[in-house]
Amino acid sequence: MSPKKQKLKVDLVIPVYNESEVVGQTYADICRVVDALPYDFKFIYVDDGSNDGTVDTLRKIADDDPRISLLQLSRNFGHQAALTAGMDASRGDLMISMDADGQHPPEMLPQMIKLIQQGFDIVQAQRMENNRSISIKKVTSNFFYWLINKISGTQVLQGAADFRALSRNALNGLRSMHEYHRFLRGMISWMGYNSVILPYHEPARLAGVSKYSPGKMIRLASDAIFSFSLAPLYIGLSSGLAFFVLAIAQLAYVLILWLTGRTERVVAGWSSLMGVLLIASGIIMILLGFIGVYVGYIFQEVKRRPIYLLKGKLPDDGE
Ligand code: UDP
Ligand code: MG
Repeated sequence: MSPKKQKLKVDLVIPVYNESEVVGQTYADICRVVDALPYDFKFIYVDDGSNDGTVDTLRKIADDDPRISLLQLSRNFGHQAALTAGMDASRGDLMISMDADGQHPPEMLPQMIKLIQQGFDIVQAQRMENNRSISIKKVTSNFFYWLINKISGTQVLQGAADFRALSRNALNGLRSMHEYHRFLRGMISWMGYNSVILPYHEPARLAGVSKYSPGKMIRLASDAIFSFSLAPLYIGLSSGLAFFVLAIAQLAYVLILWLTGRTERVVAGWSSLMGVLLIASGIIMILLGFIGVYVGYIFQEVKRRPIYLLKGKLPDDGE
């Protein structure tokens, strides 16, 4: 008798931070899709330090569903760290990361899995613009993608969401990247592999507000820019060069005046002198600031602190 063919093991990694209003509903929505599929699903919920009863809801769900595991981080480490914790715990044949707020439609899961089975290593969901309305988030996000693609050697897909499927191969690749400052969209694009893009229209959050505060968004953007690009340092270098050229020109000008006997014109105006001085010192300070940020990033990387810490795990299998 031939051994029974094992079902494909699919891990769903779902980071949650204060999502008590939606987590039960999105779990039910995901179940409606995955219960009809012939795969062996596991839900890996990562609680990113919630303080609103999210964990209690998840514990209740886990009591009735053996497919659920719950990792509890010791505090709020941020979305990218929570995703990393979930991916580190994934042992399946493929892993899909998705948000807990209903903005990543579970109806796309079957197609994502099919594409991985067809041989793709990365299936990346791409958010399409829903309408022509303009919001601050949309404008800043578009500017951010434009900037990062201009100044870094790694191209990041406009509207790429942290909604993606990774084959075991690609997940192992990602897990070998231990950097502390994590911009997963960039890291995944840096890896290469066979990728395919799945466009989708993002529905509104089921309830509650975005857990990406402006501060968290600025941190993510700075992680992306300073860990993927050295361009800010070159701004300093090129403006330094420009000032050097200006200085040579000025020297030549004074020299010519002097040689042609028009020394009375050498006494330059105070304002032009101040102008040049202020611009030059401003540029030097900006450059020092950039260098400071890079030194700070290097400092945090060399400490080799863990990306997250766990305070609890369900089921507690001692692993
Ligand atoms: N999230 C998290 N830690 C955080 C912020 C967010 O785990 O510090 C989770 C959040 O619960 C959600 C996902 O990451 O499941 C995406 O966050 P959100 O929907 O608030 O971001 P947005 O869709 O507004 O960009
Ligand atoms: Mg969301």
